Amino acid sequence: MAYRPSRSRAPGGAAPTGPATLRRANLSLVLRELRDHTSLSRAEIAQATGLHRATVSNLMAELLERRLVREVGVEHVGAIGRPRRAVALHGAHVGALGMEINVDYIAVHGTDLSGRSLVERRLVHDAMGSDPDSAVRRLGLVAKEAVEAMRRAGAVPSGIVVAVPGLVDVTRGVVTLAPNLHWRNLPLAEQLSSILGRRRVPVRVDNDANLAALAEYTSGVAAGTPHLVYLTGEVGVGGGIISGGELLRGADGFSGEVGHLRVDPNGDRCGCGRIGCWETKVGLAALVRAAMPEQAYGLPGMPVPDPDERVAEIARGLASGDRRMMTAVAQVGEWLGLGGSILANLFNPRVIVIGGYFASLAEWLLPHAQDQLRRLVVADPAAQCRFVASTLGFGAASRGAASMVVNHIIDDPTILDSLPRPAP
Ligand SMILES: [Zn+2]
Repeated sequence: MAYRPSRSRAPGGAAPTGPATLRRANLSLVLRELRDHTSLSRAEIAQATGLHRATVSNLMAELLERRLVREVGVEHVGAIGRPRRAVALHGAHVGALGMEINVDYIAVHGTDLSGRSLVERRLVHDAMGSDPDSAVRRLGLVAKEAVEAMRRAGAVPSGIVVAVPGLVDVTRGVVTLAPNLHWRNLPLAEQLSSILGRRRVPVRVDNDANLAALAEYTSGVAAGTPHLVYLTGEVGVGGGIISGGELLRGADGFSGEVGHLRVDPNGDRCGCGRIGCWETKVGLAALVRAAMPEQAYGLPGMPVPDPDERVAEIARGLASGDRRMMTAVAQVGEWLGLGGSILANLFNPRVIVIGGYFASLAEWLLPHAQDQLRRLVVADPAAQCRFVASTLGFGAASRGAASMVVNHIIDDPTILDSLPRPAP
């Protein structure tokens, strides 16, 4: 199931102005159909897009010449064995690089146009112990290495999207506020571009939960569910909302800051400076503080462990019946259900996909969370909303970021014209 960008598809081909615009729009139409299916014949594409057979043949010749699609041979359809010459999305030489910077890691996911994974990495990163300059330098270094690795794999990156846990001005590529990274008004796209220098890969920035929601909608456990909420379970908690098959961004692109819903006016101070935010109850730091206080985040002299290792240690404790950990997880589960019920009352999703550490501890968290959700959601059908654990792991946002790059190319394949041509 594929993400549909907000601009709608015009049956019978798009109806924009000049011939160049028309050609671009029609190339995009065809690529979008191929992205949504494993392979299609020219006749099937013509039928699905409403374009003439001859137009499809012309467009296909251009796409084949650009190596964005490939012939997948002759298939035999039905008992009579009628042959069908099919084509599929290809673009093995076109790279899409997704990255994520978070409180304790940097993740990289590079694919080609067809979504084939080329590079996948996760590195421990101490955002709490680094200033914005050094964090951006590190991110730039990781980006450079990933660009080179993709080139060695034969793909020229045609764009980078960086997922950030915070408010992002997507148009300008500026991180307006990322409380847990201590970033404010950081022109990340511009700074990364200047670090990448002559590699000149266009850089965009987006919110991590939005990108993870996109990854869930296109390839995750709830793929194709048009009404879903995704929650990141990291030190911070963000939300991405897919409503009617569209990513809900709001007036300024700032929707989904669910971690800062105030759920307890008498609670703890949050990284954002406010009191009693939801993430002070359900974020990984809150769980670690309750489950193993001697290893709480932010204690002086504590090295930053890999979040997976931390969560694995808690999972081992839970499996062996550690009482303190059981109590901690039950509490977090209840707060998770309480916050989830606010979202279910607001957005009426079919599923709430929980990612990050929530997914790793789903077995212990979900009974408590689902119970609260049932009690607190007002409308009966809405109460049938289920929590579901993501299977994409900590890499969901970087995977969604790579999908976003692919979507940009599919929306306008002519952007590839301005990129360096790879060797055939
Ligand atoms: Zn907050």
